[in-house]
Amino acid sequence: MKRVLITGAAGFLGSHLCDRFLKEGCHVIGMDNLITGDLRNIEHLMPDARFEFHHHDVTKYVHVAGDLDYILHFASPASPIDYLKIPIQTLKVGSLGIHNCLGLAKAKQARILIASTSEIYGDPLVHPQTEDYWGNVNPVGPRGVYDEAKRFQEAMTMAYHTFHGVETRIARIFNTYGPRMRLNDGRVLPAFIGQALRGEDLTVFGDGSQTRSFCFVEDLVEGLYRLLMSDYAYPVNIGNPDEISIGEFAEEIIDLTGTDQKVIYKDLPVDDPKQRQPDITRARDLLGWEPRVHRSDGLKLTYEYFKSLPEEDLYRTEHKKFDDYIRN
Ligand code: UDP
Repeated sequence: MKRVLITGAAGFLGSHLCDRFLKEGCHVIGMDNLITGDLRNIEHLMPDARFEFHHHDVTKYVHVAGDLDYILHFASPASPIDYLKIPIQTLKVGSLGIHNCLGLAKAKQARILIASTSEIYGDPLVHPQTEDYWGNVNPVGPRGVYDEAKRFQEAMTMAYHTFHGVETRIARIFNTYGPRMRLNDGRVLPAFIGQALRGEDLTVFGDGSQTRSFCFVEDLVEGLYRLLMSDYAYPVNIGNPDEISIGEFAEEIIDLTGTDQKVIYKDLPVDDPKQRQPDITRARDLLGWEPRVHRSDGLKLTYEYFKSLPEEDLYRTEHKKFDDYIRN
């Protein structure tokens, strides 16, 4: 039985990866410090003898007993609001955290896949973004803590690959959505659906002409799985090229939820990328992968999930949890 370590296991993507690797017949060790993760995302896995949960901060030395075949490093705050609130933790998990994971991969002779991001392209001057584009990132802007940590993470991963011969995989993940996103993480989709469910107006930042391309989580997980199983060590974009402006996206959410609220406009955050669309030629050619779930279907499933949450989740803020964490 293959043994897999997944960091960030209680998060949105981490928990779906735990599901997938258990389904593949693996023994899964999920690790999370629960600063942005939520145990409810993996509580259905707790009775499974092939699943173990380690409450641990991956920026501290990581000890795992026994063999490991695969490591997936998915621990990190991943929304602009989160990394503005916990910038130092964001930098640490992308630097100290990956160093620990790579050291572990080397010691266990495990293959490691890291979660990189379209943010490494910054506010891109090339469109759509190919893996060969080096990006347009402001290192000292508010997004710098995430973007630069992820860029460092890629550099560190390549160094372990070339210098130590560790088997590494780099996934550049574009905007992804689906059940288990945190309702209050500030990302555009939970923000809009939360507003609709609370009967508030939908807040579009800027004039709404900036674009994003949203991938349903099931498609993403399939792409990640195929990348891990491939023999390709250079970065691969995993995302859905179906691009839409945020203004149009707000209208889609209004139609989906049937809310009678309207769109209101707020200031565009500093360094908010104007456009984003993955070029997935490499993933198509190497992995035979492309997304299958149409946005209208994925959004319906995601809306059903948000509606199924207890009402108090709609009004929960994460501030206290972050404050406690930072103090300790
Ligand atoms: N956005 C918005 N209203 C919100 C939250 C986000 O218009 O309430 C915009 C945001 O400015 C950005 C886009 O939606 O242009 C996607 O934001 P998100 O935080 O989901 O992720 P990003 O792709 O910027 O990392």
